Amino acid sequence: MEHRVDLRTAAITQTSPGVTELAVTAERDERTAAVVEAVLHGKAIAIPFAKFNDGRGFSIAHLLRSNHGFRGEVRATGHVIPDQAIHLLRAGFDTANLKSSEALFHWQSSLSHYKGAYQKAARNPLMQRRLANQRISDEQRASKLSEQVARTPDLTQRIREIGESIKERIAFSTSLGKEDQAILHAISKAGIGVDVFTLDTLRHFPETLETLRKTEEHYGIKIRVVTPDPADLEELIAHDGEFGFRTSVNSRKACCMIRKVLPLNRALKGSAGWITGLRREQSTGRADIAHAAWDASLELIKASPLADWSDNELDAYITENNIPVNPLHDAGFPSIGCQPCTRAVSPDENPRAGRWWWENEDGKECGLHGRERQLEVA
Ligand code: SF4
Repeated sequence: MEHRVDLRTAAITQTSPGVTELAVTAERDERTAAVVEAVLHGKAIAIPFAKFNDGRGFSIAHLLRSNHGFRGEVRATGHVIPDQAIHLLRAGFDTANLKSSEALFHWQSSLSHYKGAYQKAARNPLMQRRLANQRISDEQRASKLSEQVARTPDLTQRIREIGESIKERIAFSTSLGKEDQAILHAISKAGIGVDVFTLDTLRHFPETLETLRKTEEHYGIKIRVVTPDPADLEELIAHDGEFGFRTSVNSRKACCMIRKVLPLNRALKGSAGWITGLRREQSTGRADIAHAAWDASLELIKASPLADWSDNELDAYITENNIPVNPLHDAGFPSIGCQPCTRAVSPDENPRAGRWWWENEDGKECGLHGRERQLEVA
């Protein structure tokens, strides 16, 4: 039987399903492919050490965290020793395989010697310990906020509640769809500091880009535009072609991963809260979303102040407040994504039926919000 120590808690951890092996010599494209594979299939990435004094595994782990924004489990396998426990954790590893369960004592002893660190690291041991201990209180805090938001009728007041509950940086990723336009309007009235950004997949409709310009003008703000990593994109197109996302669900998710999920991970880094425009009415997969919930994979509170809003409530709010919206909404696009993956829908169709219409309804998430399933390893 395989024994494994969780470096964040110093406890024996369960065996997680499957693993993506990554060589210590992995080049950038191999690392990207491993991240995509691990996230799509909920696997850990294992980095083998032939000898404990081979430092390349530490560099690879650090690159997975810093350059690729990987938040899932990174596991050290092979010849690693208890004296390296803190260094492994700081480089970005979560777990390490043990030779036997008796070795756990030595790993625990090594981890308990930690007194602090002055230098930056992929993962701060003290922070990791604190996070592990605080997880329950974070979940409780998110649940309390969810109840408060649900009890508050006014959207601006809901945003203020979020700002009062989350004292650190709050991010808002806007798709420039009508939900997000309503939220941006409320943020502008709430008077709280929010990092507003949008993900430009480089596949947007011209109308969406025009909505970005008009929105900035209307509110007198500059919205941060986050784009995919050029090297990741080049690798994706070389592998799958410009329209590979139509050939299989996995290729489509790989495209969403590189154009959306990895840039989002990068943009959210350091945030304690993330405001989204998710609504329960949008799809069956979103029917149970809370107004606020602890996202363990991102280690932040994900707040959805419109969770319980109906289409009619949203439209009334937009009209009442003269909020600028993407003209595509009036052309039969209730949900607007990338141009090649979005079509207009008829009034009797599900609002998200026009997204990846060639796939089954249940699995139709781009990974931005389906990460609870996809990133369980985190
Ligand atoms: S929506 Fe389509 S084009 Fe956009 S990132 Fe996903 S697969 Fe790629």
